[in-house]
Amino acid sequence: MKKELLYQGKAKYVYQTDKPNQLILAYKDQATAFNGKKKETIIGKGRFNNLISAKVFQFLHDKKIPSHFIELINDTEQLVEKTMIIPLEVVVRNLATGSIVKRLGFEEKTTFAPALVELYYKNDDLDDPIINDQHATLLTNTTEEEIELIKGLALKINQLLIPYFEQVGVKLVDFKLEFGRNQSGKIVLADEISPDTCRFWDVETNSSLDKDVFRQGTGDLLSVYQEILNRLGEIK
Ligand code: ADP
Ligand code: UDP
Repeated sequence: MKKELLYQGKAKYVYQTDKPNQLILAYKDQATAFNGKKKETIIGKGRFNNLISAKVFQFLHDKKIPSHFIELINDTEQLVEKTMIIPLEVVVRNLATGSIVKRLGFEEKTTFAPALVELYYKNDDLDDPIINDQHATLLTNTTEEEIELIKGLALKINQLLIPYFEQVGVKLVDFKLEFGRNQSGKIVLADEISPDTCRFWDVETNSSLDKDVFRQGTGDLLSVYQEILNRLGEIK
């Protein structure tokens, strides 16, 4: 049962439930980019994020990745385990695009093999700056071993998700993960995995099937999110 609103972010509401260690994530019909500087209501978006993320988390659960996901409740809500979020955005990159091209001058579409893992400090006031492992342990109350564990899990998730998306003609270019500590202190995958947090390119055309269409104003967000959901629906 849904109880008080604990937090409202840019894309979701987080509610307490009647069980102390369970939360409801309710996805909003809101698209934001550039740390909230670009913002728009898009009716139907929350449903896509919720359904896509639930499918991806269910797949990762089946592959024994520890995560917060419990179950889908309805089109826009899911039940998750309550965690203390570790304030890191863990970005995995298979191909160069976006901020790494701007910041470091890599040529667009450079392949990273092995995949790159980057840590950003999740702090809106500081605009989520990129940090190194030592900064991460100092800023997020984690040990060196825990940072290694998080980076290892991120790479393992990448190795599972590349073929998962590839089978439906989607190239996993890069994505962002968040991890939290559950009630027993265990580090688990949290938050969402969706076209808001991943770059997906069509394998044939390299066209974007993710939030870049909104960031760059190059396409219709609902149609590309629908396309991702349809393709994932084809997987047995
Ligand atoms: P933001 O805060 O970045 O604007 P959202 O609108 O997506 O993001 O808000 C969802 C918030 O819920 C995020 O701060 C995210 O870290 C947090 N969150 C996600 N999963 C969990 C969880 N299992 N336990 C606690 N907090 C969570
Ligand atoms: N990303 C995210 N939330 C953020 C920043 C990045 O989900 O606050 C995702 C983004 O969708 C992309 C990957 O992380 O899949 C890498 O993003 P990048 O650093 O290139 O930043 P951007 O170019 O999106 O600003």
